[in-house]
Amino acid sequence: MSLKWRIAIWYASLLIVVLAVTSGIIVWRFQGILYDETKASVSTTMSAIVQSAEQANPFSFGGTTGSLQFLFNSSNLANWNTSNSFVQVDSATGYPLAKTANLGSSTIPKNTGISAKHDKEFRNVSIDGRPFLVEDRFLKQGDTSAIVHVAEPLDELNQTFARAREAIVLILASAAVAVVIFSIVLAAQATTPINKLSDAMRQIGSDRLDRRLRWERRNDEIGKLAASFDDLLQRLAEAFARERQFISDASHELKTPLTSINSNAQMLLRWADRDPEVRRESLETIAHESGALADMVNGMLTLAKADRGDEMPKEPVSLAQVASDVTRQALPRAQDKHLELKFTHDGTPTVLGDPGLLRQLTANLVDNAIKFTERGGVTVAVGGDNNEAWLEVSDSGPGIPEGELTSIFDRFYRADKARSRVVPGTGLGLAIVRSIARVHGGRVMAGRGPRGGALFRVTFPQMALAFTGPS
Ligand code: ADP
Repeated sequence: MSLKWRIAIWYASLLIVVLAVTSGIIVWRFQGILYDETKASVSTTMSAIVQSAEQANPFSFGGTTGSLQFLFNSSNLANWNTSNSFVQVDSATGYPLAKTANLGSSTIPKNTGISAKHDKEFRNVSIDGRPFLVEDRFLKQGDTSAIVHVAEPLDELNQTFARAREAIVLILASAAVAVVIFSIVLAAQATTPINKLSDAMRQIGSDRLDRRLRWERRNDEIGKLAASFDDLLQRLAEAFARERQFISDASHELKTPLTSINSNAQMLLRWADRDPEVRRESLETIAHESGALADMVNGMLTLAKADRGDEMPKEPVSLAQVASDVTRQALPRAQDKHLELKFTHDGTPTVLGDPGLLRQLTANLVDNAIKFTERGGVTVAVGGDNNEAWLEVSDSGPGIPEGELTSIFDRFYRADKARSRVVPGTGLGLAIVRSIARVHGGRVMAGRGPRGGALFRVTFPQMALAFTGPS
């Protein structure tokens, strides 16, 4: 079932239920009030009769023993003979002794449940087919007892109730029709833009990522949805463009060593037997270029792994441990170039992440620093406070030109083309650093170091100290 119909049905059902319950409660209260009024009127008559019986002078009525006998005479009941009140006095056994004239030949049915103990009761009875509300009262004076019934007809009241119920049902039925129509219109209004939006979205296939919905004029939830969709398209288009660029860059970068390997292999085929010098040079080039190829493929694999970082298992990693291991391993290379390699640490920076990836990040920065520095040294420092953990690698090399501080993190980007030709590399190292920093929730910045060379600073969110303790 479509959303439109679901909204309409839910909305209409809810409103109808609320209306029905509310009017049910109103009718019920209305009936209660009217019924209570009748009860009060019956009780007033009953009290007046009882009072009269108590006040009556027994001696003026034939010298009988009790004033209650005053009631045993129908003519004494005439006072309460109105169009609305019917009175009957029974003996204690339920035999009718006296009644008002308006009862004619009819009698109020006796109430067997009434007694000296249970001396008062209301009941609904039918007298000659008419509904009545009756109050029964058991009265006793000395040896004499009687049961007094006061009745009032309920037929007018019942008619009023019936008319009220009819009116309510009529109002309810028309309200239900109005509610159903209103719900359908409302649901249609709510869902039409969604349908339009999904049609427009469907038209924009993956091959038309440059198109946008541009529903800015709609300043509501649908407008926001459309804007989010445009935003998503924008990011998708950028991601596709980045992937295309990467494939084209990667093919280009792979092509150069492959071409060189290929031409040297041709050379070997032709000249290897005749010229041992050519053979040695060609084999050397092939070894070098295939090494470069392997580095590049490894770099691309690491990058792919880092990009998928959200799937990596995470554990608390001591940044100082990682950095000191990497520095120790890099020491021979620094010594070969007569560079001083220093490691300092401050506090206990702990990062929640993948130790292998964090080691790779540090190694890339330290390798670059040693690679590009000819004199002086390289310093690796780590530290942290409650908020963040950081790693800094600075050197006394040529540094990075101001205009290239951000582009050096792009894939395959190599600054200073002249130097890049001499210094081996793939242009992937810093892209890997940035990617690893990102999947750990951190970021990397490049700048000028204290000794004039390059400075790279990577910051990570510091793990809560509770995790770093010995517990
Ligand atoms: P690669 O080192 O393989 O060329 P990277 O992505 O690691 O690739 O580095 C990109 C470029 O950034 C390098 O080619 C180089 O020009 C510059 N660069 C990186 N680190 C340093 C450094 N410590 N000193 C000077 N330049 C650097």
